[in-house]
Amino acid sequence: MNSLIALKEKAGRCVKCGNCLAQCPVYAETLEEPLSSRGKMALIESLSQQDLNLSERFSKIFSQCLLCGTCAENCPNGVSGDEIIREARSLIVKEKGLSLPKKTIFKYLLNSDHLMPWLIKGGTVLQNIFLKRIPEESGLHLRFPVPFLDQRRFIPPLAPDPFLDIYSGWIRAKNEVMRVGLFVGCVSNYLFPEISRSALELMLRQGISVFIPKDQHCCGLPALGSGDEETPLALAQKNFAAFAEEDLPQIIVPCASCAAMLKLDYPTLFAADDPIKEKIGTFSEKVKDLSSFLVQLSDGKPLRQNEKKKILRVTYHDPCHLRRKLGVFREPRQLLKNLPGVEYLEMPEANRCCGQGGSFNIANYDLSLKIAERKIKAIAETNADVVTTACSGCLLQIMDALHQAGLKKEVRHLAEMINQATLL
Ligand code: SF4
Ligand code: SF4
Repeated sequence: MNSLIALKEKAGRCVKCGNCLAQCPVYAETLEEPLSSRGKMALIESLSQQDLNLSERFSKIFSQCLLCGTCAENCPNGVSGDEIIREARSLIVKEKGLSLPKKTIFKYLLNSDHLMPWLIKGGTVLQNIFLKRIPEESGLHLRFPVPFLDQRRFIPPLAPDPFLDIYSGWIRAKNEVMRVGLFVGCVSNYLFPEISRSALELMLRQGISVFIPKDQHCCGLPALGSGDEETPLALAQKNFAAFAEEDLPQIIVPCASCAAMLKLDYPTLFAADDPIKEKIGTFSEKVKDLSSFLVQLSDGKPLRQNEKKKILRVTYHDPCHLRRKLGVFREPRQLLKNLPGVEYLEMPEANRCCGQGGSFNIANYDLSLKIAERKIKAIAETNADVVTTACSGCLLQIMDALHQAGLKKEVRHLAEMINQATLL
């Protein structure tokens, strides 16, 4: 069946009840009907092949969605608004192709074996020329205008050495009780190696040996979210091959977005008659997000206390990919509440999207920050010292939004928080 006809059928299940409107973070800030799930379903139903090919307006409207899944969660008719919108983006890309910047990034950088690491190494040297350090903070701002990047943006510095340059292959635990794989993800590899290092240390202390394939790649989510289905397909095959080197019962992923991509999206990328589909399915079944894995490990036992007993007030933001896609929201809270020296404070609307949404944040920076203002207000209300989350994208967004709001809070990935507070 023609993909547009199939998509129209899915969108046609929307009865226009409007239940999703009040929940949509984009609609809440813009009050523009075409930017809601209901509006986009109506647009899809009215689409013709020519609209897909020609209309800049359609492309712009379909780019203005966070793919947060809140509409689907609140739809009484089971309309998966976010998935339908993502499929519409794919149709547009098939008709019109990717924009030049996206094509360059997805096809030539994310999918490359050597160019990305080489460029990042160059970037580590050049970042002090192109970026200026923000006084009293550890982030950077652009010195010169760069297309598609807002100069106000807070940019964390690149790590001196990518995580995978320091740790790869088997890292053996003393008194090994289990073996797992570790998927690192681009943000942790190049910007925040401490996330993966924390996950690694937590597992080693539990007697878990960790296999870290050096030739693992980006999970492909930024490309898939932008409607490019070819790049994620190639990346899925590369990541599958990298982990297939060893017989691993589980593959642990600290970043919620990467975990959802590997676990839920990879199997859908391959045609039913593709010989690799079944193997990818087996690979995806092994994928587990770090917080679920740590809860499984601790088995409800109290965590052993670190010598450092200073009480920290900690709050937690639910990444959409962890809560709505993978259904994981109790585990991070359980881990945080059990941490010695931590007072856990639930923020209002912790499950509301932070406004990052992958390329949404780049194409719609002002709107993205506007959506994040509500998150920052919720964080401020808790009076917490530390904000934690489990997704690299949310981490970047919250850091930037806190900076724009002039609110000083420590932002840490859940893995770091747990590693620093315990001797789990
Ligand atoms: S996925 Fe999120 S941003 Fe997009 S229409 Fe649904 S609720 Fe709105
Ligand atoms: S809640 Fe579902 S059926 Fe109702 S308007 Fe939104 S997408 Fe359509």
